[in-house]
Amino acid sequence: MGREPAGTSRPHTGPDPVTALQALVAIPTVSWPDESSIDAAVFEAFHAELADRFPLLHGHLEKHRVGIHGLMFRWAGAASDRPLVLMAHQDVVPVDESAPWQHPPFGAEIHDGAIWGRGTLDDKAALVGICAAVEGLLADGFTPAQDVWLLLGAREEVSGPDAQHAVEVLREQGVRPWLVLDEGGAIAHEAFPGVVVPLGVVGVTEKGTTTVEMVAEGRGGHSSTPATGGPTARIARAVARLETRQLQPRLPEPTVRMFERLAPYAPAGQSALFRHARRLRPVLARALLATGPEAAALARTTMTVTTLQGSPAHNVIASRASAAVNLRIMVGDSVASVVEHIRRAIRDPSIRLDVLDANEPSPVSPSDGPAYELIAGTIEAVFPDAVVTPYVMMAATDARFLTSICPQVYRFTPFRMTKAQRESIHSYDEHIGVDDFVAGVGWYRRLLEALT
Ligand SMILES: [Zn+2]
Repeated sequence: MGREPAGTSRPHTGPDPVTALQALVAIPTVSWPDESSIDAAVFEAFHAELADRFPLLHGHLEKHRVGIHGLMFRWAGAASDRPLVLMAHQDVVPVDESAPWQHPPFGAEIHDGAIWGRGTLDDKAALVGICAAVEGLLADGFTPAQDVWLLLGAREEVSGPDAQHAVEVLREQGVRPWLVLDEGGAIAHEAFPGVVVPLGVVGVTEKGTTTVEMVAEGRGGHSSTPATGGPTARIARAVARLETRQLQPRLPEPTVRMFERLAPYAPAGQSALFRHARRLRPVLARALLATGPEAAALARTTMTVTTLQGSPAHNVIASRASAAVNLRIMVGDSVASVVEHIRRAIRDPSIRLDVLDANEPSPVSPSDGPAYELIAGTIEAVFPDAVVTPYVMMAATDARFLTSICPQVYRFTPFRMTKAQRESIHSYDEHIGVDDFVAGVGWYRRLLEALT
C-alpha cells in the first residue's frame, strides 16, 4: 500500500457519503440517561448500516466495543508515535413531537439542497464524514502516516461513560494520542455581530458543568402555627442573594486571542477594543456582560437556580427545602472556588451545600504549535474565506474525557453553519447543506493526508 504525495487531494470520496448520511440519520439513535430506556435494536441497526456503507473500513480497521454500543476503530498507520483520535457520536437527543419541524425529523429528506433531520449537524455529519474519508482513502490504497483511531461513542448526549471506557482501552494499549479532534466548533457564519467573514472556530477548552444543591432543614409542622426563618424562607433568601451576587467576569486567554484575531474583521467601533483585548480585559468583560446573556456567558462562570423543592402538601411546613444551582464553570474557576463563592454569597451557615456532580473546566489546549496548526491549516486550505480562531466552548463534549491522556484536544467540525442552523441543534429543523457536508468529507480526508 503506497502513500500519496502530500498535498494531493482527489475528489474521490468512496461510496456516496450523502446517501450514507441519509440512511444513518433515518435510524433514530436516541440515548436516554436511564440505560434501560435505550433501544439496543436501534443501535445494532445503526452498526449494521454503518458496516454496509463502509465495507473497507470494517474490513481493514481493528474494531473495539466501548461501553455498550460505543465503537472504536484503529487504522494502523506507517508509524504510531503520534496517533490521531477522530471522534463523533452515534446518539442524538430526543425529538419534541410538538415542535414545528418542516420535514420529518427522522425522514432524512433532501429539500432545498439540504439534508433534514435530527442528528444531521449533531453529530452524524461528522461521524459519516470521518468514515467516508477513511473509506475513500482505503479505496485508493492509502496508509496514514500515523495510527488513526476513530471513537464513535453512543451516550454523548447523556454524559455516558463510553468515552471514559475508550480512554481505558487506549491506556491499556499504551496509546498517548498526539491530537484528539471531536465535535464543537464549525465554520460559523454570522458568528459575531458586525463580523461578516465566516469564522473557523476551534474549541481549545470547554466550560465545566456542576450542580450544587442548597439544602435547608427545620422542624416542619402544621402550617397553621408557623415560625419565622423556616427552610423555605431561608432557601428563598439564598436564591435572591445569589441572583445579585454573580461571579466576577474574567476573560480567559483563548477568548482574548479570539478577540485579537477578529479585530481586523470587526466594525470600526469595535476593532480597536478587540485589538487591545489583552490590555482592556476588564473593559471588554464588562461590555460583554452588558451585551446580553449569550455574550455574558463568554465572560464568566454562569450560575442559575433550576429546581426548587419544599413541602409536598399545601398545609405542611417543609422540614426540608432545597434549590439546585446549575453552574457552567469558566476556565480559571474551579468547582471548589464556585462552591466557596456560593457559601459567601448566601451568608447562611445553616444551609448545606451538596455538590451533585462536579466537572471541572477542561485544560486549555495550545492555540499554536504543530497540532493546532494542522487543524488551522486544513481549515484555511478547504475554507479559504474563513478566519480561524480558538475559542472556549460553552457546551460539554466527550472530548473532555480525552484530556486526561492528551494535551492537544480540539473541538471542531468542518461544516458551514448559519446562526439558524446552530440554533436548530437540540431544537427543530436541524439540517445540513449537501455541498457543505461533501466539503466536510474533503476536509477530513485532507487532514488524514496531512499527517506526518
Ligand atoms: Zn453532539
